[in-house]
Amino acid sequence: MPTPFEKPIYVTRPFLPPLEQFSEGLKEIWDNAWLTNNGPLVQRYQKALSRHFETDHLCLFNNGTLALQIALQGMQITGEVITTPYTFVATTHALYWNKIRPVFVDIEPNHYTLDPAKVEAAITPWTTAILAVHVYGFPCQHAALADIARRHNLHLIYDAAHAFDVKVNGAPIGQLGDLSMFSFHSTKLYHSIEGGMLTFADGGLKKTFDYLKNFGFAGEVEVVMPGTNAKMNEFQALMGLQVLNYLPMIIANRRKISELYRATLAAVPGIILPPPVDPGVDYNYAYFPVEINETEFGLTRDELHEALKKYNIFTRRYFYPLVPDFACYRSLSHQDPLVVARSAAARILTLPIYDSLSLEHVARICDTLEHIQRSAKT
Ligand SMILES: *Cc1c(COP(=O)(O)O)cnc(C)c1O
Repeated sequence: MPTPFEKPIYVTRPFLPPLEQFSEGLKEIWDNAWLTNNGPLVQRYQKALSRHFETDHLCLFNNGTLALQIALQGMQITGEVITTPYTFVATTHALYWNKIRPVFVDIEPNHYTLDPAKVEAAITPWTTAILAVHVYGFPCQHAALADIARRHNLHLIYDAAHAFDVKVNGAPIGQLGDLSMFSFHSTKLYHSIEGGMLTFADGGLKKTFDYLKNFGFAGEVEVVMPGTNAKMNEFQALMGLQVLNYLPMIIANRRKISELYRATLAAVPGIILPPPVDPGVDYNYAYFPVEINETEFGLTRDELHEALKKYNIFTRRYFYPLVPDFACYRSLSHQDPLVVARSAAARILTLPIYDSLSLEHVARICDTLEHIQRSAKT
């Protein structure tokens, strides 16, 4: 019989560079006495990311949400935008803050990303863009979405908050569509404490985004647009630069964890493993979402979520409730009954996965899941 973990196991835990290394980096910030406003570390970080993503069409922000808000503003997106209900609320909030009407359509059941057929059916004369999410780091059906966007003259924007370092046919995922937003929040697989990044096809947008994140200042006394404050600071850049060096290790460890979960949980009735990624995709192992089949498992997803807490294991129900079911969006009407999204929201549990989670602990989590399943049946 499995025993509870001595210390709580959360769904994620941020990678931290060795403290001595970070302290060493802090000395440079102290020497510069330059803490924010496009300081030397932010500039260096921007160059490092440009190399990493093979593009200069890149802009850094203090978080992903403001990056997305500024993206929509800078691209002058208006009217209606077709988007997914199966995401973190910030995707929808960014539309709302730009006075854009979100039009929710269903996801496809394989990778939980926006269903292109549903997108096409929801286009109206007011539609200006598609905002899709590479949920869990699984790439969207990008070819079909790009085709729809081209035929209907719509912008194609990706919330790639989960997809840092994912590659599609050898190319960084940010090269898909017109623009992608990445989040470097501490709960993501790669982080800069808090942080965000846009990568985009039209290099002409860079200036606009740089203005918008810095109050619209174009010079000492010149303000060219009503911008906001969304600048990344030097401490974030230092963290981001240092964590970047460990990225291969972070992803390799997550991959091993994911493989052990797959090998062990395949035998547990009622646990449906995450789908394999499509051929040609280099995955980042950002999340490990399993679907719970209540009948076969013997408990509902919510009952399992609770049962695991008794063993000091804290899973997350990403994404429950669905965004359209939150009080602030409930009054929005939508045609699509969102059947697939509702089923996913009711059945998915994301299991702990982070670079410092030992394989012994993963095995113990699997034992606990097996035990709970067996006890539920008897
Ligand atoms: C984390 C996240 C965001 C918001 O990013 P922040 O950097 O936390 O502002 C947006 N969309 C999705 C899908 C996310 O997971």
